[in-house]
Amino acid sequence: MIPSKSLKIMASRMLGSKIALRSDYGPFIGGAKFIKGEGTPLPVESPSTCSNITTVSTPSSAQIASTLDLAQLTFDSGVWSRSSALSRSKVLAKLAVLLEEKVPELAEMESLNTGRAVRELKAQLGRLPDWLSYFAAVLRTTEGTVMPTEGEILNYVKRQPLGVVVQIAPFNHPLLIAVKKIAPALAAGNSVIVKPSELTPLTLLEFGLLATKAGIPDGVLCILPGEGRTVGKELVVDRRVKKIDLTGGTETGRVIGAIAGGNLASYTAELGGKAPIIVFEDSDLQNAVNGVCFASFVASGQTCVSGTRIIVQDSIYDEFMAKLKEKVASIERRMGDPLNPLSSMGPLISRPQLSKSEGIVASSLAEGLTVECGGKRMNGPSPLDGFDLGGGYFFQPTVLSGDGVVGSKVWKEEIFGPVICVSKFSDEADAIKKANDCDFGLGAAIWTSNGARGHRVAGLLDSGLVWINSHHRNDPSSPWGGMKDSGIGRENGMEAYRSYTQSKSVIMNVASEEKTRANDDWFSDSKLDVRYG
Ligand code: NAD
Repeated sequence: MIPSKSLKIMASRMLGSKIALRSDYGPFIGGAKFIKGEGTPLPVESPSTCSNITTVSTPSSAQIASTLDLAQLTFDSGVWSRSSALSRSKVLAKLAVLLEEKVPELAEMESLNTGRAVRELKAQLGRLPDWLSYFAAVLRTTEGTVMPTEGEILNYVKRQPLGVVVQIAPFNHPLLIAVKKIAPALAAGNSVIVKPSELTPLTLLEFGLLATKAGIPDGVLCILPGEGRTVGKELVVDRRVKKIDLTGGTETGRVIGAIAGGNLASYTAELGGKAPIIVFEDSDLQNAVNGVCFASFVASGQTCVSGTRIIVQDSIYDEFMAKLKEKVASIERRMGDPLNPLSSMGPLISRPQLSKSEGIVASSLAEGLTVECGGKRMNGPSPLDGFDLGGGYFFQPTVLSGDGVVGSKVWKEEIFGPVICVSKFSDEADAIKKANDCDFGLGAAIWTSNGARGHRVAGLLDSGLVWINSHHRNDPSSPWGGMKDSGIGRENGMEAYRSYTQSKSVIMNVASEEKTRANDDWFSDSKLDVRYG
């Protein structure tokens, strides 16, 4: 592989902000710079202006193969995989500090690349060092196990890393999701190859450089930007890969799952969602409306736990809808330059995503549903700051309703845009039935002032995550993952750490030599009652 000649920093004055974008982004295999990828170059767009902001070089097939070789060789060398837990913990703790220092810069870069409001990203990326610190602490506090085996036996269980693991990330939370996966995988001692989304590779590549500074040895963390159907596919089919960890759409999850199954690789898949939010009549209505808007419109609805099916008790439906429309109008009034700290919501990531939101509104109208508010692509200057909304993929926050909403297309399909639908329910059983009427089972929320009801209903929802009077709370210690078509396996916490390890059971006979001779000779010609197994 050819190392790039220089690391040129260009100051990019975009959208009134100064963001340092490098001119040489490309595959990262360790060290202090990127290598020059020999595959098809990847143009990177800003969805708020539909303009190219940089180009990233991607690896050729030969470079992908040599990265896999390097990752395997590095794993086998033991430089990281057999280093002490304490030394890995120290490196991860240092990486947490370096990342914290860089969060403001990375948040602006991610805002430029994803179009998400910078306020959101400052808050989201500000949490990321916690994931590295948490897994650094896991390494210092995890204890081994001695099994209660029968007889004069000492049986202890060690956990070892898996080997080379591949992680595939989506576009919507580019750094958050990658760091959620990288932290436990590195803590466990694996060699990690990450493929960011082709749409949003920049901040993860910057993270790679920080990893080197923190002391991660070359070849332990590699980042290969590129398309899923080329770079992603060539990584996941390699039989040396011991685990694949994907966050992406359900269809992608099925395709990669079949490959992982064929190769007997471990598999974690964090896939699509269609989160229900149940609002009971005894909830604090304004808090519920605020919570629904946060759930539905943060990241322009492009989150896997986006609250998209709002299920409201019929006795409060009219009041809820009036308050919801008022709040949605205020969000729309404050949409502008995503880099403006006052901006409330950004554009969609791409033209296909914009078309999907436009298409679902059209098909909902054809199904007889009502557009309560929004429903259109935005044009003209922003009322907030004059930003040209028509120049990007901005779509109005949109609320649909109607008698036929349950079971309609917008009820069933993941849209991944700021389009939600609202339906009514009569009693608790009806609310649970409607909430569970879906192929997905990732996030769900319940708004109620009755604690017992909150816990009772939470227990009956087919969702891996249930928030009561809240939404989208996430923590390095808290399991994250879906039921049904939303995936398999869990991120975060000890479950994630263990999923990046495998157990080794070491069993030693501790009986004296005399006792062993007397009791353990299976083929003894005089004694038949000898232990077996
Ligand atoms: P996507 O499925 O299009 O792509 C995800 C990643 O998979 C990308 O890096 C892509 O290049 C790669 N990929 C695609 N096909 C591949 C293949 N055949 N082999 C290897 N790699 C391949 O998803 P997206 O549009 O980037 O992200 C949105 C989806 O992600 C939504 O469905 C959303 O719900 C889901 N998501 C889930 C969670 C969760 O925690 N469950 C979190 C965020 C996003």
